[in-house]
Amino acid sequence: MAEEKLHFQAEVGRLLDIVAHSLYSDKEIFLRELISNASDACDRLRYLALTDPALAADDPNFKVRISIDRKARTLTIADNGVGMNHDELIQNLGTIARSGTAAFMKDLTGDTSKDVKLIGQFGVGFYSAFMVADQVVVTSRKAGEDPSGANRAWRWVSDGRGDFTIAEAEREGRGTTIEMHLREGEDEFLEPMRIRQIVRTYSDHIALPVTLVEDGKENTLNSAAALWHRPKAEITEQQYREFYRHAGHLGDEPWLTVHFKVEGVVEYTALLFVPAERPFDLFHPDRRHRVKLYVRRVFITDEAPELVPSWLRFLKGVVDSEDLPLNVSREMLQKNAVLTKIRQGLISRVLSELEKTAEKDADDYLGFWDKFGSVLKEGLYEDQERRAALLKLARFRSTHGDGWTSLAGYVGRMKPGQEAIYYITGDDAKALRKSPQIEGFAAKGVEVLLLSDPIDDFWISAIGEYEGKKFRSVTQGGTDLAKIAADGKEAEKKDPPPGLAGLVAVFRLALKDEVKDVRASERLTESAVCLVADQGDLDMRIERMLRQHKQLDQGAKRIMEINPRHALIAKLATLVGKTEEAQALDTMAHLLLDQARIVEGETLPDPAAFARRLASALARGLA
Ligand code: ADP
Ligand code: MG
Repeated sequence: MAEEKLHFQAEVGRLLDIVAHSLYSDKEIFLRELISNASDACDRLRYLALTDPALAADDPNFKVRISIDRKARTLTIADNGVGMNHDELIQNLGTIARSGTAAFMKDLTGDTSKDVKLIGQFGVGFYSAFMVADQVVVTSRKAGEDPSGANRAWRWVSDGRGDFTIAEAEREGRGTTIEMHLREGEDEFLEPMRIRQIVRTYSDHIALPVTLVEDGKENTLNSAAALWHRPKAEITEQQYREFYRHAGHLGDEPWLTVHFKVEGVVEYTALLFVPAERPFDLFHPDRRHRVKLYVRRVFITDEAPELVPSWLRFLKGVVDSEDLPLNVSREMLQKNAVLTKIRQGLISRVLSELEKTAEKDADDYLGFWDKFGSVLKEGLYEDQERRAALLKLARFRSTHGDGWTSLAGYVGRMKPGQEAIYYITGDDAKALRKSPQIEGFAAKGVEVLLLSDPIDDFWISAIGEYEGKKFRSVTQGGTDLAKIAADGKEAEKKDPPPGLAGLVAVFRLALKDEVKDVRASERLTESAVCLVADQGDLDMRIERMLRQHKQLDQGAKRIMEINPRHALIAKLATLVGKTEEAQALDTMAHLLLDQARIVEGETLPDPAAFARRLASALARGLA
């Protein structure tokens, strides 16, 4: 077959552009990436060979072999892993198939220094070879794919600039060889000393031998033992970090490392990491945890959703079980008692480690919560058993200062007579601080939690209470503000204006088709009006979300509350009973309702009518 010429996927092209033209500070990481891929390829074949031993039988000792050719100025990395066939070479080395890639690519700014940082987090993987090479030749032969008995291998060649070629080739035995023609000025990567040092720094944790051929001799450069089975005391932070990068296919740092071994009925070792940065695809629908499952040191799968709940999907790392059978299948994983035990064990351990850090270094913990709290809160909704532990870990914005608070902190600040934990939900904590519904609470010094994650509405209605204290939305039902002792700051209570009852009656009549009720408010101090939901009705924000997602045709009617202490309301109360003012009161009733809707972030049902009424009220004011 003749040579084929193909284009890189547009995203790869852009990635390569950034990789090749940026002065990447640690170019040497290309070696880590290639060794990491070689190790993954060996892991995959070892797994396939469990059911088809013939696949690996001719060459059973997995390893990664590095060689240098000074004259040709090439550095070569070869493995005897699973290999790639024609289509896989095109797919794996010509596109980026990871979940969320498109979303990630949208985040690229065009500003090189920023993009390099982003890409560092994303992980450049194989393409990092082009940081040091101006030509990369990949020769690969897939294990077991040898239908004709001939040495069927494929050669992929590219200079990393837009396209690559692919053609039939020869390769002795299965696996992949990556030959890099080093760029001008990259001669350091032809020095055995330098290669040794890089491998020790970045790839010591790799669980198979990484060798270097020197003067005809082949020397092993790394420890070649699974890192997670080594004693904790012997592992340096740097080794943990490099393992994290290998396991997570990413370039950032671990924030928390949880390494432990469980012995007893179910035996396993786990090495888990919480990343320091929020993965760019954390909220992508395909996003899953990145915890690999091993059985007695053999890699089984990185797709076992049963291993870690989705509300811990930011975790990366490895779990190695002593009890699962090596030939465990995807179906077997689904209802496996051993796996369920491991999962419970992992959750307990991670939550207790988080609690420890929260106690040890509260500020550091807040950094974690800021990035991953909204994911962890999904657990409040999904996992009843873990609610108490998660509520303890949860932090919230509140009207008490600008920082975060725990629920224990909130409860400690509750006022005499206050029985409930008050909250308001919305899209944005800053806007929530200005909601009319919390004015009365603020005036009395009663703290309100400001919940701005979409998940908040769901868990809070599912949970209902914390340590016997009910959660109550300030936008729902009546307030109990009268029962709560003021803390001195409260403005003098004025008596309600004399015409108030009449005004409420007039408004009720005017708005009888639009609201459930009109009443004098306890919760307003500054604003003239606000909307609230009736006690038994859905919270207004949930209702709005359901309507947006077409889960609900029409919401329940609201209650409009008016502020008896507001000058406008007092003035309107004096007009009640005057026949010539009836029309003006009707106009004002509708205007105030629309105003409350706008503050609530709702769209007006009849904007034209609103504009007409506003104009007529303004004209009256000017007259
Ligand atoms: P990642 O390792 O995060 O998947 P890379 O860019 O490093 O991304 O590699 C892309 C893909 O190319 C890998 O997922 C794998 O399928 C394939 N690949 C790369 N190197 C090898 C190799 N040495 N042997 C077999 N497949 C490989
Ligand atoms: Mg890789």
